[in-house]
Amino acid sequence: MKPSSRRSFVIHVAAAGGALACGRAMAAPKRFEESEAKAVSLGYKHDSAQVDKARFPKHTPAEKCNNCMAWLGKPTDAWAECDLTADRLVANGGWCSSYVKT
Ligand code: SF4
Repeated sequence: MKPSSRRSFVIHVAAAGGALACGRAMAAPKRFEESEAKAVSLGYKHDSAQVDKARFPKHTPAEKCNNCMAWLGKPTDAWAECDLTADRLVANGGWCSSYVKT
């Protein structure tokens, strides 16, 4: 490969990588929906008060995503990412069966 074509190749690869990084940075994470298979298996609800009491008898409404170890947002964020649902948003007042109190 000639030096000029190598330089051109490097520039194109760098530009493509930069564009990809920008695309990722600009794409807002989507909400984790209750209807998704993973959410159903975890018993996830956007509102902790709506958790299936028959299925999760030990759950209490005070258990919410914003006081769970996996919550990655600030306590007052309405929606935030969670360790369990990478790149997805869960509700501040949500809950799932993987809840661990902070
Ligand atoms: S792991 Fe915690 S923060 Fe994530 S969905 Fe379950 S209860 Fe909410």
